[in-house]
Formats: sequence, C-alpha cells, structure tokens
Amino acid sequence: MSRIASILLPLPLPEAFDYAEPEGMELSVGDQVAAPLGPNLMRGVVAALRDGAGVNRPLKSVQARLDDPALPPKTLEFVQWAARYAVDAPGQPLAIALRGARAPKAKPHKVVELTGRAPARATPARTKVLEAAAAAALPPAELARAAGVSGGVVKGLLDDGVLAVRTIAPAADFEMPDPHRAGQTLSASQAAAADALRDLVRAGGFQVALLDGVTGSGKTEVYLEAAAEALGADPTAQVLILLPEIALTQAVIARVATRFAAQPGEWHSDVAPPARRRVWEGVLSGGCRIVVGARSALFLPFRNLKLVVVDEEHDGSFKQEEGFIYHARDLAVARGKIEGAGVVLASATPSLESLRNAETGRYHWLKLAARHGTARLPEIGLVDLRETPPESGRWLSPPLVAAMGETLLRGEQVLLFLNRRGYAPLVLCKACGQRMTAPDTDSWLVEHRYSGRLVCHLTGFSMPKPAACPHCAAKDSLVSIGPGVERVEEEARSLFRQARVAVFSSDTVFDAREAKRLVETMAAGEIDVLVATQAAAKGHNFPKLTLVGVVDADLGLRGGDLRAAERTYQLLAQATGRAGRRDRPGRALLQTYLPDHAVMQALAAQDREAFVAAEMGERELAGLPPFGRLAAVIASDVDAQRLEEFCRAMAEVAPNTPGVEVYGPADAPLSLVRGRRRKRFLVRADRSVDLSAYMAAWRARVRPKGATRVAIDIDPYSFL
Ligand code: ADP
Repeated sequence: MSRIASILLPLPLPEAFDYAEPEGMELSVGDQVAAPLGPNLMRGVVAALRDGAGVNRPLKSVQARLDDPALPPKTLEFVQWAARYAVDAPGQPLAIALRGARAPKAKPHKVVELTGRAPARATPARTKVLEAAAAAALPPAELARAAGVSGGVVKGLLDDGVLAVRTIAPAADFEMPDPHRAGQTLSASQAAAADALRDLVRAGGFQVALLDGVTGSGKTEVYLEAAAEALGADPTAQVLILLPEIALTQAVIARVATRFAAQPGEWHSDVAPPARRRVWEGVLSGGCRIVVGARSALFLPFRNLKLVVVDEEHDGSFKQEEGFIYHARDLAVARGKIEGAGVVLASATPSLESLRNAETGRYHWLKLAARHGTARLPEIGLVDLRETPPESGRWLSPPLVAAMGETLLRGEQVLLFLNRRGYAPLVLCKACGQRMTAPDTDSWLVEHRYSGRLVCHLTGFSMPKPAACPHCAAKDSLVSIGPGVERVEEEARSLFRQARVAVFSSDTVFDAREAKRLVETMAAGEIDVLVATQAAAKGHNFPKLTLVGVVDADLGLRGGDLRAAERTYQLLAQATGRAGRRDRPGRALLQTYLPDHAVMQALAAQDREAFVAAEMGERELAGLPPFGRLAAVIASDVDAQRLEEFCRAMAEVAPNTPGVEVYGPADAPLSLVRGRRRKRFLVRADRSVDLSAYMAAWRARVRPKGATRVAIDIDPYSFL
C-alpha cells in the first residue's frame, strides 16, 4: 500500500479514520475528500498522511478529492486543539469549520428590465407592468405580481422586445477595505491606547491586549485603528471581530463599513446559507479581509489572520453550552496563538480571568478611564424596595416612576432593563398551589401574553395557557407570578399613556434585520420607553437615552453560582452604561432588596476596583477561577437506575491526582430535561494541572451503556 490518509469526519467520532490513498491521487493535509462511511460517502478532511508500508489491514480507499478548496493547515490545527481542550471529538469543531463549505452557493438570478423600446400596443395591464419595471428590477414572476397582472402580460412584453431579461451573477468578490482612510480624531487617552495596539500589531506574532475602557470611552474606535494597522501593513492580512450578540453585529458592521469603505463579511446563525458560503470561500481565498461575527466565526478557514478582536469579552454569550461546548474568548486566544496573530479583548467590565492575566502581565493592559467628549458616566442610585416598594401587583417603584416622568417630560428616553422574557416567569394555581411545569422538564413554564402560551425557555416546549388547572381542574385559578418584560411594558403603558413603549427581547426581535430596525428607531428617538432584556442592554449608543431603570437588580444574584456576583456587576454596569452617552447627563436607578450587597454598593459608588478586589480575594481563597480551574461532567439518561449506576462507576474510577478535587455526583438543579434525568460532577483543579488531559483520562475509564450520555464542560458557566 502506498500511503494512508487519516481523515477527520465532521461527526462525533473519537478520532480520525484511516483510508488508503488511491494511486495517483496525491493528497495533501487539509484536502477535502469524499470518503466511504458505511453505505454512504462523507465529506472529510485529510488530517495526516503516512507511509502505508507494512500495513496489512484492508482499508477502504478515499473516493475522491473534492473540488472545494483545502482547509489551511492552521485552521486544521486549531480544530484539533479546540477538540482536545474541550475534551470532545475533533469532528465536532470540524463540523463548525465546514459549515460554510457545505452551504449551497448563491445562484445567478434573472431580472426584467426596460429596453427603451415603446410597446406597439398599450393596454392598462401593460402600462402597469412598465411602471413596475421602471421602479425596480424584479424577476419575471415578481414583476407580474408587483404590477398585479398575469405572467402572460410580462411574457408578451418580453416577446415584443419592450422588456429584456438580464442575468445577475451573485456577488462574488468582497470590496477591498481601504486602511488608509482617516478615522475619528482620537482623544489623548484613545490615541495612547491606539498607539499601543498599533505597536502590538506592528511587532507581529501572538500577543494579547486587554482594552479596558468604561462604557462609551471609544473602545470600538480604538480597536478599529489596530485593524487599520494590520490591514495596511500586509495586503493579505485578515481581521476577525467577534461580538456576543447578533443584535450588536449590525452596529459594528456599519462602523467597519464606514471606517474602511468596504462591507465586511458577516457571520452568524442568521446569515442565509449562500451568503455564508460566500464568506467562507472569501475567507479561505483571502478576498474577505474583515469578518464581523458571532462566536462560530472563530472556526472560519482564515488564510492570514493577523488580528482577532473579542468585543465585550466578559460576556457569557461567548460560552457555547450545547453541542460542542466552548468559550469563544478562550478559543480566540488559542487561535491567535496558533496563527501568530494579535488578540484584543475589549470590555468595560472585563472578566476576572482577563483582569488576572492583565494584572500578572500576561496581557498588555490598556485603559480608557473616561467617556468620549463631554459625555459623563451616569449617576447610579439605589432604590431600596423595602422602603419604597411598588404598589401591589406592580413592579415600578414610586422613585423610578417619578424619574421616568421627569425624563419623558424633558423629551428624553428611558430604558427599563429586566432580564426576563415573556409576561410572568411563573404561573401557579391559587386553588391547589401547583406550579405549571413542562411535562418532560422540571423548569417552570413562562407565560407569554403576546402568544397566549406557556413556554419552556430551556427546551422550547409550549402550550396554550389552559382555562382550568391541569392538576385540580379549578377554573380561572391560574395566576401569573412576577414580572417579565411584557408585564413591565403593560405597566409602563398604563402609567404613561402618551409614551411610545416598545419591548426588545428575543421574542419580539427575531432576527438581525429586526434588531437593526428597532435599534435605529430607538436611536432616532422614536421610542420613549424601551423595555429590554440583555439583548438591548449592551453596546448600543442611544443619544437621547438618559434614564436606565433596572427593574430587578437582584435577579442574577439568586441561584448563586460561582459567577453570580461578577455577572450581575457586569450586566448592570453595561445596562446602566447606556444612559447619558452624549451631551445630556444620564442617570440609572437600581431597584433592589439588597442595597447593602457588595455588588450594589460597588455599582452605586462606581467602584469597580473595590468590587474586583473583594471578588478576587474570595476566589483565591477557594481556589476558584481565575486562581484554579473548573470542569463539569453532566451525565444523563432516560433511565434513572442506569444513570445512577453509571455515575457510581464513574465516581469510583476518578483518577487520583494531586491538586484535583472531584465533587459529586449530585442531581443537577435541572434534574429532568427533555425526559432525561441529569446528574453532575464538578471538578476543581489547581492551575498547574492539565485539566483537559485529566478529564479525557477519566472519561476513557468508563464506557456509557445504552442511552447514557456524558458531556464534559471545561470552565462551566452554567451550573444547571
Ligand atoms: P465603547 O465601544 O467604548 O462603548 P464607542 O467606540 O462605541 O465606545 O464610542 C462611543 C460613542 O462615542 C460612539 O458614538 C463613537 O462614535 C463616539 N466616539 C468615540 N470616540 C470618538 C472620537 N474620537 N471622535 C468622535 N466620536 C467618538
């Protein structure tokens, strides 16, 4: 046998499979091939080639090398690194990396245009078609529909030469960004940070900088300077900008397009498959030089990646919790290392992990202490709900309502922040006390008034709100407990009847276009009160927004996982940071039952340092991240008995390693999801331990039986 090709398949298989390289195929690492798997042919990627001399096993042969371009070696290296880090099968990240390769290509489409020739015979129907054709170039069927006539009329005009069909090729090439256009005139502190980033890019190679600047300090302007340096210094250099929310990508895309006079590649789950294919191919050919995207953009096949920016780096949305479990910030740093690229982590409230790396000198630390121009940080006040509670059945306290009234009177805008979708987080029967839960999951059902349904936010299960209690059959006994954004919207409308009130949550804003529209409407001052979940509370600039009311500042502190305080601090600093971003002073009011809590005190005093110092101290004592490392094992099964046995077996074979402690198994807080019982182990390790290797070794010692599934979560963010 001549050579053996190990082929990675985009499937959850533990390793690459060996195939024989057929005579004359001359494969290279990274090539995309078709390989037989069972009765099917699968797309795969050549991970390695070796001499087959002395191998007697019969091997299937690679069927063909695909026409699609090969993956760059560093992309392949990154995919394999990510799998090892996440203790998962390499086929999982490979599947993400090939997502664009497998999308259909955009097809050319035909549109109808006027030729200039006058029709020999004019009828009212023909006139309508000519008017519609003059207004827009549409495909024939759409033109007929737009004119309100039958297709025959359009065809007649085509036959007469009055109209002609033109074939439009799909947009192929990306516009070349112009890195030499002047950016904004930077303030002294912005210029200093930009210089430092430019130096970092100029020096080349892998380095990480933490761009730590208060909300509205111009971090985006500054990192765009670093991008300009990278693009200008090397005509093939590529830049990746990662954002935590699709809603935020739109604003950054617009700013990139203005800064470089070129539309960047856009990459997230909302991008249509042909457009994805175009970005994927553009990134691979090098023609697409700037990508703005969500976390999975990290797996694109960059040819010459020189700079990765992770904007809002602290954001928990960078953690992918399902399927291939990874944290995009951590993998961005890894990708930067593999590619020899600069990495910029930007945030107003950096994660403790990144702050620790900055403190110890592993990262450069660039600070922007003030807002740009005359804008000042908002004044933050605490509303003690024990002293000034809202009226019964209401959620906005008298001080907040008064502040809203004053703000609206001045013609300014209010943002009410509540990180809870729907109308009410809990529905219960006042006759029997039963809480409404999904049939196969033990989370509460959330009431949605717009759709009239009870929804499980975890699995998507939903049902119409029943007229009678399903448990005791009492009629009209179901009551809604607590507020969601829809309920706060209702209250705001009833309090301020003249005000234009809108809701921004993933239920009212389905896609990137809708998000963009709502953000623009708000920025244009056409909304007076925006009630929003975190989807709208981050990153945006609304010039007339001067009051942010946090409806339930304590929300994130309940449940008490490791990062509860940190996350609450970050989220509320972000949300309150939306106020007063231009010339008008801003104000934020936090409604809380815990005004003495360290998080509330730090927010009110705008004293991040004190909060970080206290939080770091606690983490250090307990050996928790960033001072130690964590991993979780989540085992699940439809059969409780089998799950029990598996967990017992797993506990018995946990490797005994100094510096590692294993806790559990315990029932997961969500112990039933989609009919599966769930149990968790938590592993804490010293930083010196290779936790991924430990977890891989542990898992290799037990083989799940039947329907038992095991997922490993390195650095868990969710403890459910
Ligand atoms: P951050 O990313 O730190 O929240 P942005 O980069 O979004 O801040 O800047 C906040 C606002 O201030 C934006 O509207 C931005 O265009 C504006 N801005 C920041 N720096 C400058 C500058 N040097 N010149 C003009 N406008 C600026």
